[in-house]
Amino acid sequence: MSKRQLAMVMDLNKCIGCQTCTVACKTQWTNRNGREYMYWNNVETYPGKGYPKNWMELGGGFDASGDIKAGTIPNLEADYGVPWDYNYESLALGETMLPNVEPTWGPNWDEDVGTGSFPNDNYFFYIPRICNHCTNPSCLSACPRDAIFKRDQDGVVLVDLDRCQGYRFCIAGCPYKKIYFNPKISKSEKCILCFPRIEKGLPPACAQQCVGRIRFVGFLDDEDSQVHKLVNKYKVALPLRADYGTQPNVYYIPPTEAPVKFDAEGKIIEGSNRIPAEELEKLFGSEVHTVIKTIKSEIAKRKVTGKSEILDLLIAYQHSEMFRLDNNYYNNIAKSKGLNAVAPVDQRYLKGLNTKTVSHFSLNAGGGHH
Ligand code: SF4
Ligand code: SF4
Repeated sequence: MSKRQLAMVMDLNKCIGCQTCTVACKTQWTNRNGREYMYWNNVETYPGKGYPKNWMELGGGFDASGDIKAGTIPNLEADYGVPWDYNYESLALGETMLPNVEPTWGPNWDEDVGTGSFPNDNYFFYIPRICNHCTNPSCLSACPRDAIFKRDQDGVVLVDLDRCQGYRFCIAGCPYKKIYFNPKISKSEKCILCFPRIEKGLPPACAQQCVGRIRFVGFLDDEDSQVHKLVNKYKVALPLRADYGTQPNVYYIPPTEAPVKFDAEGKIIEGSNRIPAEELEKLFGSEVHTVIKTIKSEIAKRKVTGKSEILDLLIAYQHSEMFRLDNNYYNNIAKSKGLNAVAPVDQRYLKGLNTKTVSHFSLNAGGGHH
């Protein structure tokens, strides 16, 4: 366990499945050098098989007695799919644009497919996924080379590429399949929670670019952070598949209010909900019902009193208030180790000491988006 833990909260009610986060991550970290098929951040449609295909059924994590469960390493071609490109040059010749390999699977293969029959009871919702930087990472436990470590200062889980020999036990061991094999260098690689950005007081690229403003980032022990309030104070954010036993640190506000169903005559079935309760329980555990009740009662309270801290947090009026990071925290750690702290990229990031809100998204006074 690390001394402090950074965490992310994602509000699934606000995710529009635009994949901006996916692209922000991919262009920053994984568009080259054997990482082409990797999606450190992916957004999948639920219900669906996800990425890699059927990841929830591939094992890993811990059993009730704390032993690592056996897991399967997904197949590069069948379960991730070979990344393809198009023959753009043929367009100029008036030919049809075609992929350069036969597509068989990919990160958003079953996007928006969902389930049910339109228009009566069909539904889907999006689940963005990154590495959970677990408190009890089974990728780390599975590695026989001690090549995976969890940083004391923020709980970020990283692979020491000098130690990694590409055995891939970590991939079998991670129940979220959020660690990938790089066939070009024969090593495992994963989401680094954008630690070079975090150390400068900037949120991870996926969170900063998120169009729906669904992602909050902060330290769980920072009582002023939105993450702390949503996870610990109000308890409205839950980890995904906590039953895997890795204690994940990405939390989700579950879908709160799905549309009602229609009967055969197209009339509303009062009190119905398109998302089956057992599906939400499978993903977020039985606490999901309490969370949904809490949020619904906050919505009702807000209508009467005009007040609700939970809703204010979730609405996220100010983009800059969604992240509680501070480069001084990391600078001080670097200093204490006799290291040179990475120079901050902008004086604006120097405001505040130890996890105070930094406002670096607006060029004009008064905050605002970017
Ligand atoms: S999500 Fe997987 S790769 Fe990430 S820390 Fe947890 S076990 Fe490791
Ligand atoms: S950028 Fe935000 S809204 Fe868009 S898919 Fe990603 S998490 Fe969802």
